[in-house]
Amino acid sequence: MDNKPYISVLVPVLNEQETLPELQERLHKTLEGIQKPYEIIYINDGSIDSTQDILEGFHTQSKSVKVIEFNKNYGQHMALFAGFEFSKGDIVITIDADLQNPPEEIPKLVQKMEEGYEVVGTVRKGRKDSLFRKIPSFIVNKITARLVGVKLKDYGCMLRAYKRNIVDYMNMCPESSSFIPALANTFAKRIAEVDVAHEERTKGTSKYGLFKLFRLNFDLMTNFSLLPIQFIGMLGIVIALVGLLFAVFLFIRRLIVGPEVEGTFTLFAILFCFVGIQIFALGIIGEYIGRIFQEVRRRPRFIIKKELL
Ligand code: UDP
Ligand code: MG
Repeated sequence: MDNKPYISVLVPVLNEQETLPELQERLHKTLEGIQKPYEIIYINDGSIDSTQDILEGFHTQSKSVKVIEFNKNYGQHMALFAGFEFSKGDIVITIDADLQNPPEEIPKLVQKMEEGYEVVGTVRKGRKDSLFRKIPSFIVNKITARLVGVKLKDYGCMLRAYKRNIVDYMNMCPESSSFIPALANTFAKRIAEVDVAHEERTKGTSKYGLFKLFRLNFDLMTNFSLLPIQFIGMLGIVIALVGLLFAVFLFIRRLIVGPEVEGTFTLFAILFCFVGIQIFALGIIGEYIGRIFQEVRRRPRFIIKKELL
């Protein structure tokens, strides 16, 4: 009998040698408990510690463990994209390797999916992260909800479940930078969120510095809309209008009160008008370049060095 998995669990891994043994044990136990065929796909995102050896060990021990190794680090979301391409399950679940999302919450997600949802997100109850992580998350949530048009309480938690069809749609998106929870929601009709526990990171360190978080947020904004560049265009119009109004004001003032001293401010009005138009023009050019850039950059998204399937 061909054991087609019902559940695929995808784990992006970057230098997590300390947590992997416990993670694998708890995942294995939880998934066995569900009593459906499953696969665990670890994507080694360019680790430089003994992560690869540990993962190959899991693969030899259990035929449900698959390992994909990247040649270098491409980021968590690219790792998940690679995982999506290899996954075969009807339900695809993504989870962090650091045990901050307890694997024991997976059955809850599966149950919710079985109610007919296409995407099930999670809300971290009593989130155990620093304020320095929570504030950017709060802002990202607001921006994402606006851009994607789907209000979720927690876009940042990567313990999520996707139905096969949503994963297939995501596999059709060849974009080289993306934010998966947002992308999935642009395709899904029925979306739910469930509460899950959140643990402190006890081993290893966070792989997201401030710069990486910043870039992720920028990916989010520029990938899901042309809003930033359109905003610049609109700003240009506003500045030009203000300049024009000022010129009209000065003209009327001249008729009533007489000419102002030396006409310096008239010059300002004219200047503002032109500066505004210039910025507006730049915005339009930027818009086109942005679109061309999105289309033209057909680089491979990631390179796979080794597959253990
Ligand atoms: N990760 C990855 N590639 C990266 C950064 C992170 O595969 O470039 C993995 C990491 O090993 C972990 C998950 O993504 O399994 C989440 O990372 P982390 O726990 O460091 O993020 P945080 O919880 O601090 O947001
Ligand atoms: Mg973490």
